[in-house]
Amino acid sequence: MTYMFSPKGVEELCSFVDAATLFAFDLDGTLAPIVDEPAAITINDEVRQALIQLNNLATVTIITGRSRSDAMSHLGFTPRFLVGNHGAEGLPGETTSAQDFTTVCNGWINQLELLLPDMSANGILLETKGQTIALHYRQASDPVKAQNSILAAFADLIPLPRVVSGIFVENIAPQDAPHKGAALESLMAHLKCTRAIFVGDDVTDEDVFNLRNPSILGVRVGNDPKSAALSYLKDQHEMVRLLREIISLLNASTRTTENLKN
Ligand SMILES: [Mg+2]
Repeated sequence: MTYMFSPKGVEELCSFVDAATLFAFDLDGTLAPIVDEPAAITINDEVRQALIQLNNLATVTIITGRSRSDAMSHLGFTPRFLVGNHGAEGLPGETTSAQDFTTVCNGWINQLELLLPDMSANGILLETKGQTIALHYRQASDPVKAQNSILAAFADLIPLPRVVSGIFVENIAPQDAPHKGAALESLMAHLKCTRAIFVGDDVTDEDVFNLRNPSILGVRVGNDPKSAALSYLKDQHEMVRLLREIISLLNASTRTTENLKN
């Protein structure tokens, strides 16, 4: 992985930024710092102002594990596209399949209530997000036991889900629901963007990085040698610097174009 603000990282960034680039971001841990209570996440003012500025200059999308309505309540601006449920909600032209995914999830909720009857007593919280389900076990007195019981229950679900692990959370999605990588490629095709920059921090974001698509610059928040991302930020605090760098590159390329015209 290349540090984003090293000479090589900046060179890579420059080669990816122009007005036709799709700028895509995860939310939790990327635009907003992780907090103990997920409902309390906040995008700080500097990051939000930079996002609003970028949103006026180019195409900005958010691809998050949260449901769209939940994510929207935390953004404070309206991106061109907001894709929720790890890619399963909000892609253009995907309304029918989103309804199918919801039907599958509703079936799983009924099954999980039978498979894990003591969920809340064991510190497991079931979060229904429409097209995906999250089982949080941060509050469990024995997190390893809670995680094992969740994974055992998932193995008995009909139909079998795609399981995506997070930090003290196990998510399930229908097998044929798009993951974040498929969602980003679908948006690029829809918007006719030949390049994209995607920034994320978590296991689900590896679905983008693992595409190893040469038209996508994958940036991870935090250096992790196991990640398939090309570049990294040292931590979430560097997000504002990255946004400002992108904005200044876009403004510089606009000025160059104007000079060439004159
Ligand atoms: Mg995240």
